[in-house]
Amino acid sequence: MSSTLRFQVVGEAFKKKPVIVPNRENRPSEFFAKYVFNRSKMMKYLSKEVFEKMCDVMDNGTKLDLATADKVAEGMKRWAMELGVTHCTHWFQPLTEGTAEKHDGFVEHDGKGGMVEEFTGKALVQQEPDASSFPSGGIRSTFEARGYSAWDPSSPVFVIGDTLMIPTVFISYTGEALDYKAPLKKSLMAVDKAATAVAKYFYGDVTKVISNLGWEQEYFLVDEGMYAARPDLLMTGRTLMGHDSAKNQQMDDHYFGSIPLRVSAFMKDLEIEALELGIPCKTRHNEVAPNQFELAPIFEETNLAIDHNMLIMGIMKRIARKHGFRCLLHEKPFAGVNGSGKHCNWSLATNTGILLHAPGKTPIDNLRFITFIVETLMAVYRHNGLLKGSIISATNAHRLGANEAPPAIISSFLGKQLSDLLTQLEESDDDQLFNISGKKSVKLDIPQIPELLLDNTDRNRTSPFAFTGNRFEFRAVGSQANCAAAMIVLNTAMAEALTNFKERVDALIAQGIDKTKAIVSIVREDIKTCKPIHFEGNGYSDEWKQEAERRGLDVETSAPRMFMQYLAPSSIEMFQKMGVLNEAELEARTEIKLETYTKKVQIEARIFGDLCLNHIIPVATRYQSQLIDNVHKVGEIFSAEEAHIVNANNLKLIRQISEHSSFITENVERLIDARRVANRIENVLEKANAYHDNVAPLLESIRYHVDKLELIVDDELWPLPKYREMLFVR
Ligand code: ADP
Ligand code: MG
Repeated sequence: MSSTLRFQVVGEAFKKKPVIVPNRENRPSEFFAKYVFNRSKMMKYLSKEVFEKMCDVMDNGTKLDLATADKVAEGMKRWAMELGVTHCTHWFQPLTEGTAEKHDGFVEHDGKGGMVEEFTGKALVQQEPDASSFPSGGIRSTFEARGYSAWDPSSPVFVIGDTLMIPTVFISYTGEALDYKAPLKKSLMAVDKAATAVAKYFYGDVTKVISNLGWEQEYFLVDEGMYAARPDLLMTGRTLMGHDSAKNQQMDDHYFGSIPLRVSAFMKDLEIEALELGIPCKTRHNEVAPNQFELAPIFEETNLAIDHNMLIMGIMKRIARKHGFRCLLHEKPFAGVNGSGKHCNWSLATNTGILLHAPGKTPIDNLRFITFIVETLMAVYRHNGLLKGSIISATNAHRLGANEAPPAIISSFLGKQLSDLLTQLEESDDDQLFNISGKKSVKLDIPQIPELLLDNTDRNRTSPFAFTGNRFEFRAVGSQANCAAAMIVLNTAMAEALTNFKERVDALIAQGIDKTKAIVSIVREDIKTCKPIHFEGNGYSDEWKQEAERRGLDVETSAPRMFMQYLAPSSIEMFQKMGVLNEAELEARTEIKLETYTKKVQIEARIFGDLCLNHIIPVATRYQSQLIDNVHKVGEIFSAEEAHIVNANNLKLIRQISEHSSFITENVERLIDARRVANRIENVLEKANAYHDNVAPLLESIRYHVDKLELIVDDELWPLPKYREMLFVR
């Protein structure tokens, strides 16, 4: 694009635009879940018998027979057709990170030359999308290309536009998971089983433990015109070049600032649609970087929360366009300002209350609290490398480890009160502690937890896994990721820790030791074991990196090498024992992660090389020629001596442009060579490593010179919208 086009685009973006404020007279409670086939719709559209059967399926995981499915489909179709629905689709989450759908009309022959609208139980329950082009990591060879999708009745069916959307798992014909939902559901079952067994030590009436997730979605908005004028944003989701804006976030004036009008219209539109789809949006605010914002709903059961997050990411992109924006979900769209994450607030809850909730009213509550906290730490400690492997990606790698996001080392922050409590428990002796049910129970009043803990204001923003009152906040998750990857690992690791905990406690009880004493003694042992994961200090500091290494925590910083954590013996053992993923599935997933990494860096390198050679160098050369022209002309009218003085600055610029331009051209050639060498490597890990070690660093070093040229070259000539233009349009 030419520089004049840049001015048109920028000019257009800064013009005052009509703001379309969506007009909704009704209150949210009136239209909440309007487009969701939830229990109240089921009650209306299904017979009592079928409704009860569905409740049993949803609540207790009993199997849905085809005869019932037919009746459910019939009711669902009636409801959907009243909303003008004509199509249905299975909606699943393949390993590409997005969602997938294939729409089928309710169209069937009526046998008399006409048609009827039909939707059967079979179509509701199972579909066979030709799935050969979804990533399968070698599980499904192309001759056996069929995968099938199967309805997940625990996540409600919903309507978007004219289509009935049915959340499904996606599996290969041989039964291996090809998606995120299937292993997620297994991990949730595993943690339910393990946590219920442990919770029963404390409360006899616990029958079920669910995992809760409250995600906080960060994002950027940029003007649609400027987005279109940035081939790098368009192709890779981030700017591969661009000098810092003189003003960015240093004044801290954006965070929690008043929301610009066009943005608040977008947010309102988004919230209405989200609420209609049953997504309980609650919080919205400006984030730290200019043009960065956040949206957070109230937490929900993890499987549903993830469906809702996947759904909302699509809706955000669509609604942004209605308001003349593009919504950027990339973790680091702009260098030099904060990137975006998706904090995952996680907790476990029984049918009666949250297990990580403090303070307890009784000593038993307190011991329950301590047990679940310590076992969470054990889970995170044992699998800290794998947890990192679950959140890392080519895109999140730009955010992690920068001084704005969690460091590339997983540790847990507990706050002073909870830390002191654990230390006391570790150091005190058994006899003072275990007798909590008796009258002399003063000492397990140690875990008498001050009210303050609830309002844990002592927040350490540098910690990737922080305790925040009644939950842990996993902050390393990337903004565009399917957070199922992280939730699968966390819940499975928790299931393993609790299973292991219970085995050891039961062994002591079998030896005749009192139950409470047994629990306290194992908790104490575990407090000692998982100590290395507990860190209250500054996660951004260099000392921490060294200290973490001494503690034996995973300090790997390369994304491809982090993915290999999925194949560490401790990971394979955990996933298999907990019945979540088998070795073949883990190998496939790792392969997909590595391939995705390679492709992303490859695309970036290609588009970056093109931009350098077709956009930047020609413009720099043109400006340099103008300067040279000027130098000649000065020579014509001034004496040699005077010309030397007058031309001094231009000569300096001419030299600088030459230096930067030669660096760029030479290194783009090296970049192309490095890609060529990497592309010839067969082994997926070695190839990803080559992209990480030899290709990605060149993008950074060349960019430095491009950004320098941006400062030198006449603004009139510069072809790409600049940071100061993109980041301040509202
Ligand atoms: P922050 O101050 O960290 O930005 P937000 O208010 O933006 O917090 O988001 C906090 C999220 O944590 C919300 O989704 C909220 O519903 C969720 N949350 C609160 N309590 C729990 C809990 N016990 N388990 C899981 N999520 C929770
Ligand atoms: Mg928040």
